[in-house]
Amino acid sequence: MHTLSNPQIRAQEILARCRKLAAYSEDACGTRRTFLSPPMRDCHREIAKWLKAAGAELTVDAAGNLRAFYAASQSAAPRLLLGSHIDTVPNAGAYDGVLGVLIAVALLEALETRRLPFAIEVVAFSEEEGVRFGKPFLGSRALVGKLDESLLDSRDANGISVRAAIENFGLNPSEIPRAVLGDDTLAYLEFHIEQGPVLESLGLPLGVVEAIVGQTRMEFVFAGRANHAGTTPMHLRHDAIAAAAEWIVAVERTARNLPGLVATVGQIEAKPGAVNVIAAEARLSLDLRHASDTIRKESAAGLARLAGDIAAARGLSLQHCVLLNQNAVAMDPFLAAQIEEAIRNSDCKPHRIVSGAGHDAMTLAEKIPVAMIFLRSPGGISHDPAESVELDDVAKALQCGLHLLDQLAASREFLMGREARKNA
Ligand SMILES: [Zn+2]
Repeated sequence: MHTLSNPQIRAQEILARCRKLAAYSEDACGTRRTFLSPPMRDCHREIAKWLKAAGAELTVDAAGNLRAFYAASQSAAPRLLLGSHIDTVPNAGAYDGVLGVLIAVALLEALETRRLPFAIEVVAFSEEEGVRFGKPFLGSRALVGKLDESLLDSRDANGISVRAAIENFGLNPSEIPRAVLGDDTLAYLEFHIEQGPVLESLGLPLGVVEAIVGQTRMEFVFAGRANHAGTTPMHLRHDAIAAAAEWIVAVERTARNLPGLVATVGQIEAKPGAVNVIAAEARLSLDLRHASDTIRKESAAGLARLAGDIAAARGLSLQHCVLLNQNAVAMDPFLAAQIEEAIRNSDCKPHRIVSGAGHDAMTLAEKIPVAMIFLRSPGGISHDPAESVELDDVAKALQCGLHLLDQLAASREFLMGREARKNA
């Protein structure tokens, strides 16, 4: 069994690297790094330097994912994927996504050129948050062959398509099919901050993710009629903002009354947007999550019906569309059990947890077994500059990761692959 002689020093280095990468931002103040923006190239350069020094071969696939291949003890061995994403939300913290990539980098470094019976591919995904195009998981979708023509035609706020963004980064969209995972891929493992308060409330550094909740993202447009704010009597108005407001409060009430459901209207845009004009149009986002796909789908349908009723009662029209419909995803039970053992081997108590946030693992789960390890989030804070992680927890995660690699290297069950495991 390989042990780490100086986990604290390595953890310190991981945190210093996270903070260094956080400085690569599209904004002068705070961190914002969206899909294939110039600061993402800076991240690629830095991460590639560390990975090369650890003995990996680097490529950037046509979806902009940085991929590093660390060979196995024999050629033609299968591979294990380790990684997370390096895009961020606006005004982000330094650890969401990036920490998982840098733990993967540190695991290669800790192997000190030692080879395992499987190769390791570290992936730094180019897009997970959905900030630039309103559609998340562009990076991991490429690995399962789901970065299709309609997604490539999606445009950002400046009218630049995904396809053009890829070309502007010096990549060739016609090579996207080559990013797809080969049959030699055994599994995907991701370390990630919890982004919630559960592990902290239990006093535990690490958690084993059992499932990722399903998620629906929708867009609603209430269309009324613009008119003069002074001359139009209240009973003759078709006010899109008032209809939107009524619906937003109903969304909140619905979620509060249904255990496990979380619903958020995070964006609202009104037109024409003048102080003395009744709004003709209100465009809203809806984000809906639950561990049960049935409950989530019924809730989405119910809230859409409600929006229609509110619009009709006010003489408005309503349009809505679904931007994302992602079912809840179970993590691989074999890998989850292995992670529990690795956490115990690192002198920690494992705890099974459900992820309320979406992750690349849910996209990859279509094709390969996936598993995730959460690190405690101090204060439960994420998607904010105050996001943090404990040094000791990062050291524990590294030790857990090394134990896990050793356990998997010694496991004939793991090396035979999921299908063979099922039939065995
Ligand atoms: Zn993340």
